[in-house]
Amino acid sequence: AVRSLIAGNWKMNGLKAASSELDAILEGAAQLSSGVDLLVCPPATLIAAFADRLAAHANSALPVAIGAQDCHTNAAGAHTGDISAEMLADAGARTIIVGHSERRADHAETDAIVRTKAQAVWRAGLVAIVCVGETQGERNAGHTLDVVAGQLAGSLPDGATAANLVVAYEPVWAIGTGMTPTAADVEEVHGFIRQTLTQRFNGEGERMRLLYGGSVKPSNASELMAVPHVNGALVGGASLKASDFLAIAAGC
Ligand code: 13P
Repeated sequence: AVRSLIAGNWKMNGLKAASSELDAILEGAAQLSSGVDLLVCPPATLIAAFADRLAAHANSALPVAIGAQDCHTNAAGAHTGDISAEMLADAGARTIIVGHSERRADHAETDAIVRTKAQAVWRAGLVAIVCVGETQGERNAGHTLDVVAGQLAGSLPDGATAANLVVAYEPVWAIGTGMTPTAADVEEVHGFIRQTLTQRFNGEGERMRLLYGGSVKPSNASELMAVPHVNGALVGGASLKASDFLAIAAGC
C-alpha cells in the first residue's frame, strides 16, 4: 500500500520560538501508526534550524522530514531575495512544494514556471510536491476537471516517478475558508488525477502520492483521508499547532 503523507505548509508563519511546535511534533510522531510520513514545511528562515533539531532528536528513525514552500528555477545567480533548491537541500530540506495557488496568484507563476521549478527540485535531488486546483468560479462553471487536467499537463515534467513527485489537489476556494468539497467531489477529482497520471507515467503514476489540501482539520481529516486515491493531506492553518497536526495524522 502507498504510505500516507501528512504535510504541513506553514506559509508565512513562524518565528524561532515555533521550534517548540516542532519538538512537540517529533514527540508525537513516535506514537503514530507506521504507515504515515510527516513533513513540516516552515518558512525558509527556519528550515536549517528545524533540520538540525530533527537530526539531533534522540529517535532518529522518526518518519518526519523538513521541507520548503518554494524555490527559484536556477541553482545560483543574480536573483536578489530568491532561494535555490540546492540551497534548500543544503539547509536540510528533503521536499519542496511548488506551484501552490498562493504562488501562482501572488507571484504570477504559470504552469511552465511550475514545471521548471519541479525540475529544479529534482536537480537538487529532492522530492517535488506540485499543487493544482480550481477556483470557485471555475468549479461553478463546471470546469474543475478541465482546469486540473491543464495544470497537470503543464506543470508536471516528464520523468516524474512515485519517488520524486507528489501531487496535491487544493481547490483554491477551500484554502483557508473552512469550506471543503464533499467526499464525493474529492473522489471524482482524485480519481481523475490518478487516471491522468497513470496514462502519462504508467506504473509510477499508479503509485504517486496524491494529497488533498484545503481546510483540513482534525474533525474532517479521517473522512477526507478515507476517500479513494487520497494518500494524505497538505495542511495549512491546522499544521501550525502540533496537537492539531498530529490529530490529523492520527486520523489516516
Ligand atoms: P488551509 O489548511 O489553511 O486551508 O491551507 C491549505 C493550504 O493551502 C496548504 O498548502
